[in-house]
Amino acid sequence: MDGRVTMDPALEMALLPYRRGFATNPAKGPVDECGVFGIYGHPEAARVTHQALIALQHRGQESAGIATSDGENLYIRKGMGLVNDVFDQPATMEKLVGHMAIGHVRYSTTGSSRLGNTQPILIHSRRFSLALAHNGNLVDAAAIRLQLEDEGAIFSSTTDTEVVAHLIVRARKESLEESVIQAVNQVHGGFALLILAPDRLIGIRDPHGIRPLQLGKLGDAWVLASESCAFDTIGAEFVREVAPGEMVSISRDGTLRSQTAIAPAAPSPCIFEFIYFARPDSQLEGANMHAVRKEMGRQLAREAPAEADIVIGVPDSSISAATGYAEESGIPYELGLVKNRYIARTFILPSQARRESALKLKLNPLRKVIGGKRVVLVDDSIVRGTTSRYLVSLLREAGAREVHMRISSPPYRHPCHYGIDTSRAADLVATGRDVPAIRDEIGADSLAYLSIQGMVDAVKRLGSSSPHFCLACFTGEYPVPVADSADKFCLEGGFCGDD
Ligand code: AMP
Ligand code: SF4
Repeated sequence: MDGRVTMDPALEMALLPYRRGFATNPAKGPVDECGVFGIYGHPEAARVTHQALIALQHRGQESAGIATSDGENLYIRKGMGLVNDVFDQPATMEKLVGHMAIGHVRYSTTGSSRLGNTQPILIHSRRFSLALAHNGNLVDAAAIRLQLEDEGAIFSSTTDTEVVAHLIVRARKESLEESVIQAVNQVHGGFALLILAPDRLIGIRDPHGIRPLQLGKLGDAWVLASESCAFDTIGAEFVREVAPGEMVSISRDGTLRSQTAIAPAAPSPCIFEFIYFARPDSQLEGANMHAVRKEMGRQLAREAPAEADIVIGVPDSSISAATGYAEESGIPYELGLVKNRYIARTFILPSQARRESALKLKLNPLRKVIGGKRVVLVDDSIVRGTTSRYLVSLLREAGAREVHMRISSPPYRHPCHYGIDTSRAADLVATGRDVPAIRDEIGADSLAYLSIQGMVDAVKRLGSSSPHFCLACFTGEYPVPVADSADKFCLEGGFCGDD
């Protein structure tokens, strides 16, 4: 089954004006990829969290935030910008006292940049005071929010994290843990959620394990992070993945308690983490990202050889795959494109013209290397096609004789609804086009993608323990059912992706 469901037309109508009310960036769809970190039992919890967030900065550059607890009270500081912009003053850090903390970096978008959506979010109710930090996207958050609003609830952001906070506070359960379990069983989607109460830290992962969450130890302190590169940076030891549907909770005695909060479903970790999102030095599901990407490049060379003089990769994310392609094909790897590291991600800019001009600032071709050569250009993915179209013409202007584009993932044809930033189906260059038509769109001499089987086999060969993956953006088979109208809502609103 492809996992798409038709939404009740009455509910669609009810949601429409609501979505419009939250209109953000019409060029974008879901914009949710974030990084989370949590620590329990460290005298300098805020300082360690700050370092960990810097390691997770690639997962989000729009805003950053840290909440701490000293066992009695919660403290919070957050703001727009990079981690070091938000936490640039010693005085800011000094206010974040306590031995436990959670931190968040949020993915950058232009239209939906707003202080109100920064995380962690802090709530106070008669029952609980909580800080929440969330990576992912809930496919039914908008419908649940509408219902909560009808019952009198008031919201201060457009994040689905706030919907979960309401559900926790409204749960008629004795303990915080039981309330959290009731709340997360009412929502669906991909999520890694950290909750800080004055006396405890809770981490929970969606039942399919779509979004990553890992557990580590720093001396006697427990740590939780989206990616293991955060553990390496702070000197923590990787312990294990938080299992799909598992909730871990650490309270006053420092003991970690684990329980199944949501019945685990078919494991479906996001394959795009392996292709592009996670840092090359991170381990996910037992596999190292650089090694996996290199293997994807090798497999691509086996599946789609090219007659060429040099192989170049699009910096930085495609270098691993390009070196794999070069090694397997025997064609020398060369540095053909130099990246200006101080230009932010071009992917997120709202208009085509701005994306193209930012790309010009970002990548410069090495004419001496490229001139007169038949070039294999390896990239990890084509989404809208802006980058490939631009790079092919850039390489031709720099004197390339032929440009053979090779992509180390399959054609990206379906929007993501679980927390990765992609465009609407209408903006995806591979939607409704076969490979020759995409090749014509981007102007390359040849174009080939890695097969779905080749991609999955590469991840498994390099040690991934997961038997299945979420492949929905390539296959259209969504592991968590998505309403037919989700694209439209994301376009007109931003709520379902605006977190
Ligand atoms: P596009 O220009 O829209 O085809 O984007 C493709 C380029 O953006 C590739 O070079 C990818 O490395 C990168 N990319 C792919 N997916 C994402 C994403 N979700 N967010 C940011 N960059 C991405
Ligand atoms: Fe990842 Fe694609 Fe699934 Fe989204 S649809 S969670 S990007 S594999």
